[in-house]
Amino acid sequence: MKINFYNHNLDISYQKFFNNVLKTNFLTSGNVGKKVENNLATFFSVKYSLLTNSWTNGAIATLLAINIKPGDEVIVPAMTFVATANVIELLGAKPIFVDVDKNSFLIDFDKVAKAINKNTKAIIPVHLYGNMVDIKKLRDLVNKKSNKKIYIIEDSAHCFEGKYNNKLCGTYSDFAIFSFYATKNITCGEGGAVITNHKSLFEKIKEIRTHGMTNDAIRRFQKKNYVPWNMNRLGIKANLPDLLACLLPKQISEVFKNHKKRRKAFLFYDSLLKDLKLRTPLLNDCCQKAYHLYVVLVNPNQRSNIIKYLNANGIMCTINYTSVTDLNYYKKKYKLKARDFNISNILGRSVISLPFHTNIKRNDQKYVASILKSAIKKYE
Ligand SMILES: *Cc1c(COP(=O)(O)O)cnc(C)c1O
Repeated sequence: MKINFYNHNLDISYQKFFNNVLKTNFLTSGNVGKKVENNLATFFSVKYSLLTNSWTNGAIATLLAINIKPGDEVIVPAMTFVATANVIELLGAKPIFVDVDKNSFLIDFDKVAKAINKNTKAIIPVHLYGNMVDIKKLRDLVNKKSNKKIYIIEDSAHCFEGKYNNKLCGTYSDFAIFSFYATKNITCGEGGAVITNHKSLFEKIKEIRTHGMTNDAIRRFQKKNYVPWNMNRLGIKANLPDLLACLLPKQISEVFKNHKKRRKAFLFYDSLLKDLKLRTPLLNDCCQKAYHLYVVLVNPNQRSNIIKYLNANGIMCTINYTSVTDLNYYKKKYKLKARDFNISNILGRSVISLPFHTNIKRNDQKYVASILKSAIKKYE
């Protein structure tokens, strides 16, 4: 028996979307991407959306647009994927790590309040595993602590379809950034999107997305006459080609249907694993999460044995994540003290992500649960 950690659900029916793009003379960002952007803006009820070739490049473009530079501080949770911190670091600004809440494993608001100072330019809360941060509450807290603008940028890589108090990402923040990486709930292999209601920042990000050029390829080439361009600001290459964008509309239209399937599979794991009484993230009822990853916490001293046992029985699993504050680069560079990030560091040493995706079979889940049970019995 071999059980993959993740299977995508892009079947052969997606080929026609590629074929439609191949029939045109435009493989990079063109009309298909534009349509998807309209699609996203409608879905999230926001004014603007921009497709990017990754979450990472979308985030860099966003941080450049709000003028993040050396000396600036950006607050991030210690427990997240490295990309959340790396984008800040790459621009020469300083990521300020704060520990996560001991129940939800989401950014701890009390610690955010303490971290805010005159150098704070932005906060990047992370909807870890699809579990949602209360962005409205975070906004209120930020407004209370600071009388200058602090941008809230949602890391929504795990959370396309989640709702908090019935509101989707992007409702209370300045930006929400999504990832369409291979294992995310919606994917085109590599890709991402930024949504916002800020017109001038949207226009800046749009230029930054293609080297700061004032006209993108579709405008230069698809008008009757070639349109010359200028460059007002420094940018990167972050646009998503139509060849990949074409895979998104069907998935966006099916996202709530698939959310139901994921929810069912998630709750099935809950019931299968109930008697193990393993720790999992605890959330309040306001959060209708995007079921992205199914994680359990085990004894950190036994985790590698348990993973080996699962692997030996054909079960692939991953670790999401080692706390960023437990990684050599950040630990050394900022002389981070373990005691300041106790919850994140221990979580990062205890967590296992079990095989989980939209079409996981109930029998496979039963098998995973039974092997996990024997592993824990053997190594407890
Ligand atoms: C996947 C992921 C990212 C990075 O996304 P890319 O599209 O691969 O750049 C950022 N943050 C989190 C929490 C992620 O899981």
